[in-house]
Amino acid sequence: MRPDRPNKRPSGLSQRTTQGHVARKRFGQNFLNDMAVIDDIVRAIDPRPGQHLVEIGPGLGALTNPVVALSQHLTVIELDRDLAARLRKREELTVIESDVLKVDFGEISRERQGRLRIIGNLPYNISSPILFHLLPWAALVEDQHFMLQKEVVDRMVAEPGNKEYGRLSVMLQWRYDMESVVDVPPESFTPPPKVDSAVVRMVPWAQPADVNPAILEELVAVAFSQRRKILRNTLGQWIEQKGLETDFDLQRRAEEVPVADYVQLAQLAAQSA
Ligand code: SAM
Repeated sequence: MRPDRPNKRPSGLSQRTTQGHVARKRFGQNFLNDMAVIDDIVRAIDPRPGQHLVEIGPGLGALTNPVVALSQHLTVIELDRDLAARLRKREELTVIESDVLKVDFGEISRERQGRLRIIGNLPYNISSPILFHLLPWAALVEDQHFMLQKEVVDRMVAEPGNKEYGRLSVMLQWRYDMESVVDVPPESFTPPPKVDSAVVRMVPWAQPADVNPAILEELVAVAFSQRRKILRNTLGQWIEQKGLETDFDLQRRAEEVPVADYVQLAQLAAQSA
């Protein structure tokens, strides 16, 4: 260690990036720096001119630049005032300086007059809230490509019987067809996050089940409250309290039940409410 340098960085600051921006931890800023990985992600997205692309958290433009070179226009949503100011200098970008959790994607779709392709290397601290914020607009979305913690992507795409299968899997799989498309190691970012990352592709089902997400969420939370036990004492009680007549097999564990069975139960509960 060099004696003339403090060992610790000032609190709240991370390391300085090459473009003179200090990464802000509270905004989940981990900037992609690996051209091969960026290339893989852009190829997975496959942007085309005329498409209505929206990027959440463009940051210093690691994805923004190659994507807009192909799509010719891009709407970007950035919370960091300094980064938004840099982005506003570019004609081919429409910049929304805002917390993405406050953005009305219905309005963007109306303005752009078409279905949206949403992309982003998301701030990991709010990745699940962003996924649930977008859920009600799925019908206005062509697809979504998001970088997330790999562990979260594994839970999103997990199938019944897999130990990763849980609430997040059910709450997203009923609405999206999903697959993990690129794995990304920590060293592909500046500063590197503590976890592995992955990019997930989410394509809304064209004809999703007609289900009330609030009811589905309620029953899935009850079912997975004790995921190792059979459902008789958890979901069984919920079904009894609601007075539902069903042959739902309660001898199973929550992690063994296919999404379609949960959806059916939510539909039944909605009918008898
Ligand atoms: N896309 C860049 C990249 O790949 O290098 C940056 C990704 S960084 C993980 C997350 C980005 O989201 C940062 O630019 C950060 O400022 C922005 N951000 C954080 N919270 C946000 C929020 N609530 N709404 C919009 N953008 C946010």
